[in-house]
Amino acid sequence: MVKQGFVYLIGAGPGDPGLFTIKGMKTLAKADVVVYDRLIGQEILDYARSDAELIYVGKASSDHAMPQDEINRLLVEKAQEGKIVARLKGGDPFVFGRGGEEALYIHEHGLGFEIVPGITSAVAVPAYAGIPVTHRDATSSFAVITGHEKPGKAVSSIQWDKIATGIGTLVFLMGVENLEFIVTNLVNAGRSQDTPVALIRRGTFLDQEVLSGTLANIVALVQQADFKPPAIIIVGETVNLRNELKWRENSPLWGAKILVTRARAQASELVERIRDQGGEAIEFPSIEIIKEADLNALYAAFQVISDYGWIIFTSVNAVDIFFEELGGMGIDIRQLQGIKICAIGPATAAQLMKRGLVVDLMPEEYRAEGIIMELNTLIKPGERILLPRARGARDILPVSLQQLGAIVDEVLIYQAAPASHINPANLQRIRDGEVDYITFTSSSTVSNFVNIVGPQYVNTFNNRVKVACIGPITARTAEEHGFTVDIMPDQYTIEALLEAIIKDHKSS
Ligand code: SAH
Repeated sequence: MVKQGFVYLIGAGPGDPGLFTIKGMKTLAKADVVVYDRLIGQEILDYARSDAELIYVGKASSDHAMPQDEINRLLVEKAQEGKIVARLKGGDPFVFGRGGEEALYIHEHGLGFEIVPGITSAVAVPAYAGIPVTHRDATSSFAVITGHEKPGKAVSSIQWDKIATGIGTLVFLMGVENLEFIVTNLVNAGRSQDTPVALIRRGTFLDQEVLSGTLANIVALVQQADFKPPAIIIVGETVNLRNELKWRENSPLWGAKILVTRARAQASELVERIRDQGGEAIEFPSIEIIKEADLNALYAAFQVISDYGWIIFTSVNAVDIFFEELGGMGIDIRQLQGIKICAIGPATAAQLMKRGLVVDLMPEEYRAEGIIMELNTLIKPGERILLPRARGARDILPVSLQQLGAIVDEVLIYQAAPASHINPANLQRIRDGEVDYITFTSSSTVSNFVNIVGPQYVNTFNNRVKVACIGPITARTAEEHGFTVDIMPDQYTIEALLEAIIKDHKSS
């Protein structure tokens, strides 16, 4: 039997990847072929399988990468090959997305299809601008209308006389180029010139722009601002509620472009926190964490593990690799019984906690000096300490512990290597100084960042870009590389680093 193909028409939502639905995400992950429109972000496409065929078909009023009938044929052709096809469309597939036409064509060809609705820009874009489409006191109806109808059309399919005064809130899609025509029709049909209007561009994205006025002046304002399509036009009294409800522009990091240089595997916490606060996180990993190829020294330590009085972990990476290897050798965690455990800071301690280990010591100051201060009185002469950590770390910890009379086995288990994949678009953005903050969370992120971007650029950053370092060691490395360090938190954690950036952004 020939394998039956299938087409899913999936709504991708208005832009913010968080507004993609769970069903959309699960369906996309099943597809062999993904046919997608303009404005669909990489973060959403990332839910497709890595071996899926991705086909871009454009679709914007001015740039028809592929005509509609060709898109229809493509969907049918791929499904007839027995493939699962995901047709990914902006917003909701049945709201001005020509999803209806595509579904009919698929149906006429005897193929199976399913609709996965999406969050439509018609409602979500105004919401992100702080404009509700309905409100008890202001309006009890709203309409979504095409703004694409050409002014010259003999018989209009839009009954201007009915919508102008018969509906509370009017949302026009695809209408910026016809704004004057729309405004004239509404006013001629009796809508008051004082009615508030807003245009929203790139709504729900981090660079959303809102322009507001009234039917009387909006055309002039749009011309003055050179406000470009695509955008949504919303007309009605609820537009005024934006004055109080513009939640997005009021979020703590709104407008801040923050560069994250951590290794990709560790960046997610910082990246998410930045986004939660309304900032733009630009991921530009300058290092990669690479496990040492030769781990014999670690295995040797495992053999005599019960001889150690302390194990000191100075990073989350060290915890991960240590326990991965311990498990890999078939050694039970109970072999660590009786050994005291020190973590340099809360993130490392939390990583140990995930493995069921409560740390015996976490210094007040989250760096090597802090550990030494507190171990000072706890260490017995001749006590053995295991220090599994990164190549290239500072000597202060092993040297000072030896001075206290301990026998220190420093075992190198990983290194921070320069990142092997560089995103050229982001590199250009950085070189052009189009970021507001650069974050460094370790000395290795600093030195590798400078290598990637080029030392000649460091000086140009100092005037335009603020440099935020997690702690004094990283800050010193940054200064050695010519940076002026603007931000350093009192506590050396990601959370505190972000708080310090928020404080700076608010005051700037
Ligand atoms: N099916 C889509 C609409 C497709 S028509 C949906 O349900 O959202 C395309 C029009 O939608 C654009 O011309 C613009 O008017 C509007 N639009 C879509 N996404 C938008 C966004 N993020 N910001 C502003 N307008 C948007």
